[in-house]
Amino acid sequence: MKPVVNLYTWLQRSFVTLALIPLVFVELLFLTIYFVSSFWAVSSQADYLRSSAKESLGAIVVARASSISGQLEAVSGNVSLLANHFAEALAAPASLSAADQARLVLAPNGVYYTARDKTPGGAAVFYSGIHPVGTAERDKVARLLAVESMMRDLVVTNTLEDQVYLNTFDSLNVIYPYFDVLTQYSPKINIPTFNFYYEADLAHNPLKTPRWTKAYLDPAGKGWVTSAIAPVYSPSGFLEGVAGIDITVSRITTQVLGFEVPWGGYGLVVDRDGTILALPTSGEADWNLSELKSHHYSQALLEDTFKPSSFNLFQRRDLGDFSLTLAESSQGVMPVTLEGGKKLVSWATIGGTDWKYLVVVPESQVFKGINQIFIEQLAAGLVMSLGLLIFYGWFFYLLRRRALRMATALSQPLLQMDTIVSKLTRGEFTQSVPDTEVLELQTTAGHLVELGQHLSDAHAANKLIGEKLESARSDLIAVVNSLDDIILEADETGEITNLWNSDRERFEELPIVVAGEKMTLRTFIVLAQSNHQAQHVEIQVPSSTGMRWFLVKVSMYDHRRERLILAARDITERKILENTLVVARDEAESANRAKSQFLSNMSHELRTPLNAVLGFAQVLALSKKEPLTEAQRRHVREIDKAGQHLLTLINEVLDLARIESGKVSLSLEPIAVTKVLAGVLDLIRPLAERQGLALNVVNLVPDDTHVRADFTKTKQVLINLLSNASKYNRPKGEILFTVEREDQRVKFSVADTGHGIAEADQAKIFQPFQRLNQELTSDIEGTGIGLTVSKQLVNLMEGEIGMQSTLGHGSVFYVYLPLREAPAPVDPAILAAAVKNFGGEGFTVLYIEDNPANSDLVEQIVASLPGTRFLAANRGDLGLELARQHKPNLILLDLHLPGMDGFHVFGELRADEATREIPVFAVTADAMESSRTKALAMGFAAYITKPLNVDSFLEQLTNQMESLN
Ligand code: ADP
Repeated sequence: MKPVVNLYTWLQRSFVTLALIPLVFVELLFLTIYFVSSFWAVSSQADYLRSSAKESLGAIVVARASSISGQLEAVSGNVSLLANHFAEALAAPASLSAADQARLVLAPNGVYYTARDKTPGGAAVFYSGIHPVGTAERDKVARLLAVESMMRDLVVTNTLEDQVYLNTFDSLNVIYPYFDVLTQYSPKINIPTFNFYYEADLAHNPLKTPRWTKAYLDPAGKGWVTSAIAPVYSPSGFLEGVAGIDITVSRITTQVLGFEVPWGGYGLVVDRDGTILALPTSGEADWNLSELKSHHYSQALLEDTFKPSSFNLFQRRDLGDFSLTLAESSQGVMPVTLEGGKKLVSWATIGGTDWKYLVVVPESQVFKGINQIFIEQLAAGLVMSLGLLIFYGWFFYLLRRRALRMATALSQPLLQMDTIVSKLTRGEFTQSVPDTEVLELQTTAGHLVELGQHLSDAHAANKLIGEKLESARSDLIAVVNSLDDIILEADETGEITNLWNSDRERFEELPIVVAGEKMTLRTFIVLAQSNHQAQHVEIQVPSSTGMRWFLVKVSMYDHRRERLILAARDITERKILENTLVVARDEAESANRAKSQFLSNMSHELRTPLNAVLGFAQVLALSKKEPLTEAQRRHVREIDKAGQHLLTLINEVLDLARIESGKVSLSLEPIAVTKVLAGVLDLIRPLAERQGLALNVVNLVPDDTHVRADFTKTKQVLINLLSNASKYNRPKGEILFTVEREDQRVKFSVADTGHGIAEADQAKIFQPFQRLNQELTSDIEGTGIGLTVSKQLVNLMEGEIGMQSTLGHGSVFYVYLPLREAPAPVDPAILAAAVKNFGGEGFTVLYIEDNPANSDLVEQIVASLPGTRFLAANRGDLGLELARQHKPNLILLDLHLPGMDGFHVFGELRADEATREIPVFAVTADAMESSRTKALAMGFAAYITKPLNVDSFLEQLTNQMESLN
């Protein structure tokens, strides 16, 4: 769980996490991007500036080199010209001028030389003592001095050129301007051994072009010089000598290197071997050298003297890569760390010499501007960052102040609302709206105050309701207490939570009796609850006045069925009454049974003598031997008539007694209306005719209409109605017998044209022995039982019987019977199969059945089997007769037969020797298992229920037949 903090802290934290941190982060990111990008921009700018500085330095160097080259080329051009002049002079005869003759002296050591100068300045001549000077030598000197004026011109016109001279293979040196050669040169100097000589020979200079020598210490005393030299060949190709023009190093230094170099740098020249020819003073410290401007004559006189190797940049190991790069590249720029710090050295080759002109500038100076830009850029960045920092500092300060104010503005009203709510919970409902800056909070606070008002109203209303409730409750308690009933509530454990009875404790403790079992009220409650039913239970509670009865209604009280309400009503009085009634009913029933029994017995007992009376009356009437007189005959007729009447009466009383004692059992099965009509009309038609009545039959139902009823009893009822219609009709009257369908019933109505029945009498006619005084007012015979029996029978068949009558016009009696589906006709295919398989030749079946519909069906089945014979009887006595006569192979016996019932018939069959062995199938509508068991136990071979299942019936038939075979 997160720790709970107050709103103020929460807003503070939110401000830090949502505003401060992301903003700082974003700004840092932007600053980083700014610095990285500007650093990148500045460095690429610096790179560009550096490279362009280098380029311009290179361009300067190249320009200077070419300028030097121009000057040096002039010198080397001059030396070439000079050499040509010397060659020409050697070939042209000449003689010494007087001035020269005067100053040329042959010294004792064999040196031939000029002892002094002449005006305006002449050349100096020195013929080494190692070569003897003769005429030819003197002539050579004369010839060479012819070039003297040109030599002078060269030195005068070119500021670089210090000395102009010719050295010959025989160590003659002609040199301008004049100096004291005798003191300067060694007397035995061997000129061809000097570099300025041999470097011009064929071996060193096969192209015979002018060349520059390395710097060397001038033997003529000019100090460190370098010379442009050109060979002088005789026409025969002999190297006569070498012409040369000297340039002193100091002159190059001052003149050639006098160029102004930008960024406070300096120039220097190295020869093709890497030796520094000219080094300005400003550069000496860098290279750790001091330029050799002075010379040592003693050395110079002895041999070629070159600059020391420290002056050779190609060999200076301390310079690292630079030495190598400088030696190999004709042009370049390179940073080099020298004694004087980091320098940028740029060089280019001086055309025509293979010398290199170098410019050395301090790197700091070159990049000074660039670095300045860099620093400025950085400073700008820092200023900007600082600006941003100040801005954000200020901004965050403001933001924080605002956030704090916001937090206060929010938390203050919330606290006030909290106070309001806590006051509301304490019941202080009237509150005032606090002032806040925020509209929503103001509204909410307003709603809270409103809520308080509502609560206050509701509280008041509640209080009122509570009071009303309390008063209603006390009213209720008063009402309930005034009731005899006991009402109690109980919870799931059987604990009584509420009991509206003044005598609570006593009631709770009492043992009660439920369904004969003793228990406490509590056990009963738990039991009723576990049954989960709302129910009525009668319980018994002992009291001082004996056991009292209560009718208890138990109903579940809540949806979880955990609580119940139990209402108990004292029904002791009712119980006592009920018990009395039951006793009375039982008594009445037993009296009725006794009456029926008595009637039944009496009827039976009466019939026997009556049969005798009737029999003897007939004997008397029919006796031929002793014919009766007319008066006797009349008397005998009266006896017969009275006897017949008595017999009818007895039979009908017996019927009624049987019905009332419940002894009549009906076979309710589908019966065909047409068959019923046929049976009834056969009997009634002759009667109607005898009376002279018109009998009209209107049958409005289809032929295969069936009703569910007992065939014989239905006939009995209809015959009774029709015979009444004929009995109580007027002479030549009419009987209309209508059959029609009404919904799911068939209505049989019998209308007559008799006198009708008064409305007051209509209710009476279904009562037994009620004849409406017919016995007094007419001679129409009757017993007053017919309609009673009819009504009983129709009721048993679940039908309805009734009548309408208009006095003077006639009556309509009707009977409704329930409609039934016609039994399914026999499936021809099933029958065909049975016919094919049936092998019972000479097989006879007797069916004793009162319902022709059934009889017809079985006949249809049996008659179609090859070689079988079908016999039918609609009454038991007839059946017995046929059985005795024809001895059938099988008897099908309906158990519900009119008159003698099936069991009775079966008993007779078993009693008779002749029929004892014939197998009998019981055929009945009674499908009860107990009936089946009973029948099979009695000896029936099979028990077949209606409606007939043709398939299984055929199977049983076949089995039976096979067992006989
Ligand atoms: P019974 O005909 O033997 O007297 P019933 O029970 O059949 O007995 O009839 C009871 C009485 O109802 C008859 O005695 C007769 O008065 C009256 N009654 C019955 N049917 C008719 C009828 N169709 N017209 C007039 N009265 C009739």
